Amino acid sequence: MKTCDIFKQKTTLSFEVFPPKSDTPIDSIYSTIDGLAPLKPDFISVTYGAGGSGSNATIGICEMIKEKYGIEPVAHLACINLTREKVLFELAQMRAAGIENILALRGDINPNVPPHEDFRYAAELIELIKESGDFNILGACYPEGHPEAPNMVEDIRHLKEKVDAGCSQLISQLFFDNEDFYAFREKAAIAGIDVPIEAGIMPVTNPKTIARMATLCHAKLPKKFLTIMSKYENDPIAMRDAGIAYAVSQIVDLIANDVDGIHLYTMNNPYIATKICSAVQSLFK
Ligand code: FAD
Repeated sequence: MKTCDIFKQKTTLSFEVFPPKSDTPIDSIYSTIDGLAPLKPDFISVTYGAGGSGSNATIGICEMIKEKYGIEPVAHLACINLTREKVLFELAQMRAAGIENILALRGDINPNVPPHEDFRYAAELIELIKESGDFNILGACYPEGHPEAPNMVEDIRHLKEKVDAGCSQLISQLFFDNEDFYAFREKAAIAGIDVPIEAGIMPVTNPKTIARMATLCHAKLPKKFLTIMSKYENDPIAMRDAGIAYAVSQIVDLIANDVDGIHLYTMNNPYIATKICSAVQSLFK
């Protein structure tokens, strides 16, 4: 099933998982999906290492999600360090595995690995996927602007190029202030971007994640959020519960404001996802 068709029926709920790290047994992903599947997500997306590292694991996990759990998978594919031939090979693998949905990404530029010349931007990958078969293509978007973009106008102009190239739905970077998402959604609509946009929500449940979010994703940390987090930073259980409550409050507000869908960055943690979903499950109509 193409995930873009689900938006016609309901507000979507999707999850993101990552392949186990090299020092963790690959089988550990089974317990993650075992815990997430009963929450009945509309789809689960699986990340891909920009260096090409995630390749086999991403496709294998997607195949397992579809076959064992009957849940629609979305395979991420990051092109910055791939050749055109390697991308075509990956697409053939995905087709053979029955994968219909691809989140087409550029990938972060690693200062130690010079980018390959075949792809500079995600739009070029989207064009190639579009030419290569009947895949449903998703793209990434940034409510606070992509960190490399000189300004929001330029970033949204390039986002429109991705949609025009064949992207039928978007998933946003995580954010902690819903007003940033609403302002972005309005600008995107003015630019003529008319595909569904899922809001990316990351439950922050320990102090280490906060620092990572600020540096890696450049997400703005609102005062309200920082006050809650600093109050509980030395109490792991309270911190976890406060992070869950914050994510729930974001989701309730987003759905009340007619968001197309919620994409939960699960960090492979079914306990947190279950707590969040049990608080908001009835809102996904
Ligand atoms: P692009 O859409 O290509 O944009 C990158 C930058 O280039 C932007 O600043 C944009 O404005 C600019 N730009 C675009 N086109 C042009 C042009 N023609 N001229 C000039 N500038 C231009 N990374 C991974 O490695 N693996 C993953 O699995 C992964 N999953 C992700 C999932 C989501 C939902 C999100 C939001 C991000 C994910 N990322 C992942 C991170 C992503 O790869 C990085 O954010 C990366 O820096 C940008 O990727 P993109 O596809 O958005 O790039």
